[in-house]
Amino acid sequence: MTALNKIESHNFDLSDSDILELLNIDATSPDFYRLIAVSNAITRQKSNNKGYVFTQIGINAQPCSIDCKFCSLASSHYSLSEKWEKSIDDVVLELKGLMQYHFDDFFLMATADYPVGKFLKMAKSLKPLLRPDQKFVANVGDFDTQTAQDLVEAGITGIYHINRLREGIDTKAQPQQREATIEAARKAGLEIYYCIEPIGPEHSYEEILTEIKRARDLNISVMAAMRRTPVEGTPLADKGMLSTLEMTKIAAVTNIVVNPSRSMNVHEPSQMTLLAGINQLYAELGANPRDTDCHTENNRGFTPEKAWEMLCEAGYER
Ligand code: SF4
Repeated sequence: MTALNKIESHNFDLSDSDILELLNIDATSPDFYRLIAVSNAITRQKSNNKGYVFTQIGINAQPCSIDCKFCSLASSHYSLSEKWEKSIDDVVLELKGLMQYHFDDFFLMATADYPVGKFLKMAKSLKPLLRPDQKFVANVGDFDTQTAQDLVEAGITGIYHINRLREGIDTKAQPQQREATIEAARKAGLEIYYCIEPIGPEHSYEEILTEIKRARDLNISVMAAMRRTPVEGTPLADKGMLSTLEMTKIAAVTNIVVNPSRSMNVHEPSQMTLLAGINQLYAELGANPRDTDCHTENNRGFTPEKAWEMLCEAGYER
């Protein structure tokens, strides 16, 4: 039985070779549409056509020592026009502005060197502004068990933390560090938000399979897949970018294998990927590793309203 036949008959007990077979589907072939039809059905059935919009504020634009070869904020090839750090008052004002829109989870992002104490202080000031049902997610560098507990006490409910593709090769973080942080967060009761990223044309399906399986083993409820944006000035920019069609296929396979209980995202938002069971999008403000404009809301970033509009066009509701 082919892997496609298996998933079409609702058998999701997929071996490595099944997953590779799905990843190897030609995205211009009829099989591609069979694949995305399964992913689409899974999401719509699970979510009852509910969509999600998350927002993220990047609180500093400063050189980061982890030096990821794809990131505009990396210290050896810092590509933003300015350097700045937002005050608590600045971010409080921004979040108050954002709260006039409807969105679900709220993410606070800082570069890996941002002092933990300052981050916790900011989180405590922002928490009362969120609705009680809104989840509050930290996107920060690696941390230990004490910091994980401090984050919980500051009102943080989850972390965006992943093992990036070619971690330790294209970045100065090590997979063991990333795993230790995820473990510390889980032990403290923080929810893990996961993503297969940043996927570039040079990554093999075997490498992508390894990361998809890592996410499957973590029992993730909020999942994502992201292609690498070739940011001018970064060492990996000349490797180019995956097509949206290829990204749609990888997102579909990720959704089918990881089977997140709440939502599946593709970053950055694109209408085509919504055909493949994507029901969550991000609106972003402030600094962003994929942008050379240090206020991404003026360039690549989406507003919550624009994200909702895209989801509604695809039949997802608030
Ligand atoms: S992606 Fe994150 S960790 Fe890597 S250089 Fe950029 S800010 Fe630092």
